Amino acid sequence: MAKQPKVLLIYTGGTIGMVADAKTGQLKPFNFNNLLDEVPELHKIPATIDTHSFGKPIDSSNMEPKIWLELAALIGKQYNKYDGFVILHGSDTMAFTASALSFLLENLNKPVILTGSQLPIGTIRTDGKENLITAVEIAAADGKKYPIVTEVCVYFEYRLYRGNRTNKFNAEHFRAFQSPNYPLLAEAGIHINFNKEAIRKKSKGALKVYQKLDSSVAILKLFPGITPAVVSAVLNSGCKAIVLETFGSGNATTANWFIDALKNAIKRGVIILNITQCAQGTVEQGRYETSSAFNKIGVIGGADLTTEAAVAKLMFLMGNVPAGKIKKQLTQDLRGEQTN
Ligand code: ASP
Repeated sequence: MAKQPKVLLIYTGGTIGMVADAKTGQLKPFNFNNLLDEVPELHKIPATIDTHSFGKPIDSSNMEPKIWLELAALIGKQYNKYDGFVILHGSDTMAFTASALSFLLENLNKPVILTGSQLPIGTIRTDGKENLITAVEIAAADGKKYPIVTEVCVYFEYRLYRGNRTNKFNAEHFRAFQSPNYPLLAEAGIHINFNKEAIRKKSKGALKVYQKLDSSVAILKLFPGITPAVVSAVLNSGCKAIVLETFGSGNATTANWFIDALKNAIKRGVIILNITQCAQGTVEQGRYETSSAFNKIGVIGGADLTTEAAVAKLMFLMGNVPAGKIKKQLTQDLRGEQTN
């Protein structure tokens, strides 16, 4: 008999494994072993599934960069033993975790699939069972029936996405994620139909697991009427990098106070990465007069990065790359996170 693929199922928490508190009715995480009891179908998948409960289960709103490092280290340690990894994770910050892991795991040649659900797995109408079962099937692929997905992905509601291209856009529907600037990697119906062209090419190098992140990052979202005091508070917060969420294709007010505030921050060494507030499309600094100053003063255009990927990329580069190289690498596509 052919050797069965091996999948490591890692449980971090999230709605998928929650139960309602008997007294308050509030959803809170529960024991992982009960979760597997709820999905006997998993035993029918021709794969060996080992499980790893990752510390105390959390609601992903409590996710922290130190847990991303622990997850990356765990995958690094178990990399040769398993063909694929599934991470059960709350949907709220899943796109951040997927983005961070994509940077921390360089030359990844095996699937790392994050999934979760909008309804707990024990409830009748749960979306968790399908999400979990198909995520495991994708992680267990041997390249014959289904291709081996060599990247960090999010699987949710019949769709497989490149993780660092996703964001959670719906708090109500089962289809909670979108990837507006990158095509789906697969869609599950009767068959799982893969978009092979869209999947990252196999890397030649060996897996490299990074173990540092620098979370000295802030997000500054512009709006008409934003005051100098607010902008100054963020730029002078002590953070080393700011994700600047601008309008349209990377535009902002041309008011002198604003441009001067950015210019002074950049002179002090603060990195400013310009991404758009629009869900779809890209930053093009200099296309409009309202973004022309940015190139001159040293604001970095973040192309079509999501907020989640922008934050993770900054944390990753500031933690691992010499200061002089960060700006250049910010403009480059490192893990399929942006279109250049
Ligand atoms: N609050 C939950 C979490 O992110 C929501 C979910 O799992 O979908 O952990």
